Amino acid sequence: MPVRLTSLLLAIAAIVSVPCFARDAPFAPDAALDNRVYEGPVIDMHVHTAGAGENGPPGSMVCVGAAADLRFDPREPWMEALGRSMARPACDDPIKGAMTDVENRDGTIAALRRHRARAVLSGDLASRKDWMDAAPAGLFIPAQYLSWADLPDYPPEAIAAAFDRGEIALLSEVTIQYRGVFADDPRFEPYWKMAEDKGIPVGIHVGVGPPGSPMVFPEYRLQNPKHLEAVLTRHPRLRVYMMHAGWPYAEDLKAMFYAWPQLMVDTGVLQVALTGEEYYRFLKDIVEAGFADRIMFGSDQMNWPGLIDEGVSAINAAPFLTYGQKKAILHDNAARFLRLDE
Ligand SMILES: [Zn+2]
Repeated sequence: MPVRLTSLLLAIAAIVSVPCFARDAPFAPDAALDNRVYEGPVIDMHVHTAGAGENGPPGSMVCVGAAADLRFDPREPWMEALGRSMARPACDDPIKGAMTDVENRDGTIAALRRHRARAVLSGDLASRKDWMDAAPAGLFIPAQYLSWADLPDYPPEAIAAAFDRGEIALLSEVTIQYRGVFADDPRFEPYWKMAEDKGIPVGIHVGVGPPGSPMVFPEYRLQNPKHLEAVLTRHPRLRVYMMHAGWPYAEDLKAMFYAWPQLMVDTGVLQVALTGEEYYRFLKDIVEAGFADRIMFGSDQMNWPGLIDEGVSAINAAPFLTYGQKKAILHDNAARFLRLDE
């Protein structure tokens, strides 16, 4: 039907070419900027069923909004240097990790309840059951965690069956980057096809790992947001979010956002992995480019329940975000992405 297609394209061209004469000066400071604190409800797209000792010894500490201590002499193994910096963090007010698995689980649930939050909970069936049984109904939205090593145990058809049984609502977090496998690797293609066919949202790690990642995970390689281009081309109905927002590739992220309106990101761990200045510069860059509706809050809570409070506070304290943008990032974008109204 070439004629009808042509008239449709002409109609669209007419709509998008109407100049915005009615606009105020686009960059005039807005004295009446409504930047109130958004008080919930919140959706956290990125929580793990981790145990207290999964990221360093129980009680390990992390700093908020501070640069990682990356002074390093290779005479000492990096893991020892990293362990030392987590035991004695270089900031005044670090977040202390939970001492036990139960403290971590219950502390996470309490933190989410403080923010009237729901959270995407990433883990395996047994750990998810433990956490979901301890939480109010509906607080957690279950997701299958998938590392490269997990693939033999979780072929695409097993994930589709778990989705059909109602055991999971998402496939997330996909961490194949830690084995140097990128989103567009042909070996992962059957998962994308399955997720598109079943309508399962996917969260994939694209961005920052622990400092010195290749010395912790020898096959870790940097992944760029553009590694999703071929995936989204092949699977235009796929819903996918880049966990950790593809930091620091803001330019490529903007290009991807513009080309692929179905692509989303979460802010997981950025509030602790980067200086506050860098986190805000990155966030502001994306928001000012017009993509505030594509950003979803994620805490990447593993064994520091305080990450949830700090993550929500970081969004609320961002001086460049309006109330509406805070609400979008902390709740509305995720509700739309997850189709929670259905
Ligand atoms: Zn994560």
